[in-house]
Amino acid sequence: MSLNLKQNDLSHVVAADREHVWHHLSQHKQYETADPRVFVEGRGLKLWDANGKEYLDAVSGGVWTVNVGYGRESIANAVRDQLIKLNYYAGAAGNVPAALFAQKLIEKMPGLARVYYSNSGSEANEKAFKMVRQIAARHHNGKKWKILYRERDYHGTTIGTLASSGQPQRAEQYGPYPDGFIMVPHCLEYRKQWDVEKYGERAADAIEEVIRREGPDTIGAIILEPVTAGGGVITPPEGYWQRVQEICRKHEILIIIDEVVCGLGRTGSWFGYQQYDIKPDIVTMAKGVASGYAAISCTVTTERVFEMFKDAPQDSMSYFRDISTFGGCTAGPVAALENMRIIEDEGLLENTTRMGERTLANLNALMEKHSVIGDVRGKGLFCGAELVADRQSREPADEKLVQAVVADCLGQGVIIGATNRSLNGLNNTLCLSPALVATSNDVDRITDAIDRALTNVFGC
Ligand code: PLP
Repeated sequence: MSLNLKQNDLSHVVAADREHVWHHLSQHKQYETADPRVFVEGRGLKLWDANGKEYLDAVSGGVWTVNVGYGRESIANAVRDQLIKLNYYAGAAGNVPAALFAQKLIEKMPGLARVYYSNSGSEANEKAFKMVRQIAARHHNGKKWKILYRERDYHGTTIGTLASSGQPQRAEQYGPYPDGFIMVPHCLEYRKQWDVEKYGERAADAIEEVIRREGPDTIGAIILEPVTAGGGVITPPEGYWQRVQEICRKHEILIIIDEVVCGLGRTGSWFGYQQYDIKPDIVTMAKGVASGYAAISCTVTTERVFEMFKDAPQDSMSYFRDISTFGGCTAGPVAALENMRIIEDEGLLENTTRMGERTLANLNALMEKHSVIGDVRGKGLFCGAELVADRQSREPADEKLVQAVVADCLGQGVIIGATNRSLNGLNNTLCLSPALVATSNDVDRITDAIDRALTNVFGC
């Protein structure tokens, strides 16, 4: 299948984009000499741009979102039918898809009980932070108000979530930030900070050092990605999560798991935290919840957290005083219900595990061939290859060369990603996150493109 747009259709669309659209994460000066890329249509993992050029998308819509692939008519139909029936009602009332999706979601999340709806990952995390602050105010005499976050993790674009950004360049120039967000060290063993055998436990103990420094009675929660996404596809070292949980339980610190990227199958289980036997208090999710067919995010809590907001006769401000206008749009949960059915009925968790193993095997084979690959890591269809200038010293590869690899793949019609200019000197990891429907052929085509690109850019 390919598109057949007339030349003047193309020039009109591209001109409109160039003149009026402010692209995300873009230096617009580039469009003085090159056309902006405008996508028109997608099916499965395939995309077509306004020139009719076909691509294989290995990043699920640019930012690991389209988990079930493009062109899903059943989601579009479910959304259409629901919008005609009832499109929206917000505030202190429910709607049918919101209730049914919450029930289905909780079935997949033993130990959790309540779903709070909003529209984006940033918002879902803001809600979690507000819950922690209100619990501190109501139940801890204003203590336990600080929130820990981890170096290299990312939680969103709002001022509150940027205050918890472990990627310093993302937060530069938008301050000042609210107080009480405290950074703990990352856990990437390839970029060792301690020379010890049990690295996972040591990296977790570093969190406890921060807790003791700040005072355990000041810390209410920690927010962590189960597998760090944009910070370089960081899978946790063995023993890390178990120790993190022990420490949090000991100091009565709530665990917030940011599943905005990992949620809904990306790692081969419904949620990334389930790969590591984590027992979270709050889980946030967004991107894959409806695979980009509608805007939806969720902040999911245990009954224990929910109970802390129950009305108390003497405390008229005890309830969670928060709302999200479009948290009342039915398109999100109805798309999410159908998205979940597809993942289940098509066996996409199993496919993700199998295809993820194949991707890692292919990347490891490339590492034998290309000395520029220093480390390969990943879980499910969420994989990364860290590029280095020198394997011995592990000096990161030049960011411009990393971007040249991404551009070379694009020229070959394969869209891959890389850590996004947010980490000082460490924007050197190629990132792969194709839709969970990827086949062996898709995976091989993606890694073959990387193979050729590494040869073209590094000559080895
Ligand atoms: N959390 C993580 C781990 C993310 O990767 C992102 C976005 O990439 C967010 C939160 C923010 O999500 P949103 O862009 O929907 O606000």
